[in-house]
Amino acid sequence: MKQLDIHKIRTNFPILSTKIYNKPLIYFDNAATTQKPQQVLDKILENYTQTNSNIHRGVHYLSQKSTQAHEEARQFIAEYINANSTKEIIFTRGTTEAINLVASLFCEKFCSENDEIIISEMEHHANIVPWQMICEKKGMKLRILPIADNGELQLEKLNDLVNEKTKLVSITHISNVLGTINPIKEIITELHKKDIPVLIDGAQAIPHTKIDIQDLDADFYVFSGHKIYAPTGIGVLYGKTKWLEELPPYHGGGEMIKKVTFEKTTYNDLPFKFEAGTPNYVGAIALAEALKYIQDIGIENINEYETRLTEYATKQLLQIEKIKIYGTSENKSSVISFNIDNIHPYDIGMLLDKMGIAVRTGQHCAEPLMDRLGIAGAVRISFSFYNTLEEIDIFITSLQKAIKMLK
Ligand code: PMP
Repeated sequence: MKQLDIHKIRTNFPILSTKIYNKPLIYFDNAATTQKPQQVLDKILENYTQTNSNIHRGVHYLSQKSTQAHEEARQFIAEYINANSTKEIIFTRGTTEAINLVASLFCEKFCSENDEIIISEMEHHANIVPWQMICEKKGMKLRILPIADNGELQLEKLNDLVNEKTKLVSITHISNVLGTINPIKEIITELHKKDIPVLIDGAQAIPHTKIDIQDLDADFYVFSGHKIYAPTGIGVLYGKTKWLEELPPYHGGGEMIKKVTFEKTTYNDLPFKFEAGTPNYVGAIALAEALKYIQDIGIENINEYETRLTEYATKQLLQIEKIKIYGTSENKSSVISFNIDNIHPYDIGMLLDKMGIAVRTGQHCAEPLMDRLGIAGAVRISFSFYNTLEEIDIFITSLQKAIKMLK
């Protein structure tokens, strides 16, 4: 493992030198979105100042340059996650849009009344509501895999849930609240023995772990660019060719067609069939640039350092009286959610903010999980490799100050 030069890395992220209320910013809200390195910001600027042009439609120089950069980005992303082909990389606005696409198209095509979809109790709303909507529309059932008190999936219950009506299982790779890293490879292998396809919500996994899609054998894997140092508004739906070929188009419009007449339209080949309208080509190019940045640092190095941060912060937090940490799985990512006694998480968040520390408070888009934990909300800190042990020390001291004020 390579020792990361964190202080040098921090200089790549201009926003990290910002002051908040005249205090140096401590940004512990990386599970919500990550900050952007100069390399990515430069790429966006370069695009708009040197090559900007709508893609796939022009014979002129800029259009060809822009199209080439867009398709090279797709190629890079396919290689980054070890997909079989660029046909399997569909650009979306993000994780949410990708799950909506699969939920709606897959269930329309392959499901009938009374069929079932399984999700888990730890899902983000983005992996609950799209399934609920289509289940309601088609008279299907949503079944829920429960979690144990330590925040791990109760995998022994998966067998009881699966039956001949099960059409797909959709679960998160890493929980955005509990930090639990689910054993998705084992889950996929088990479900494939029963011919059940699996969608993995990779929103929280992509910035922290190596994703080898062929090794995982996921049928669908989705993620958002903004969680991995790229801009908002760009994300990826990976789908196995065999599924994508069979699914009908999602949105209609330009790009996704081969031939249009008023009588009949024929659709484009993969991946364009699912990419109606002018795509976020600058976003796609910036996403590939962000992945290059991460590849240069090394995801294993990032993962090792973030684990150190998480272990250190957990140890420090556990010194605080009446703290309750949600999610104590051994296999845990760099997310820590907690409450202290009966202090409202919002009050802690507000006071920390005044000390320059950005944490997230509330339900974290996982209301059913909050219900399961029996809480209205929690404080969440989440790390990136640009955070430091010193920042954690300042956070702990500030948290102690906040607790004193609130008691
Ligand atoms: N799933 C998980 C686990 C998430 O953490 C998030 C973002 N918080 C999403 C889905 C939704 O991602 P986006 O808002 O980028 O579509």
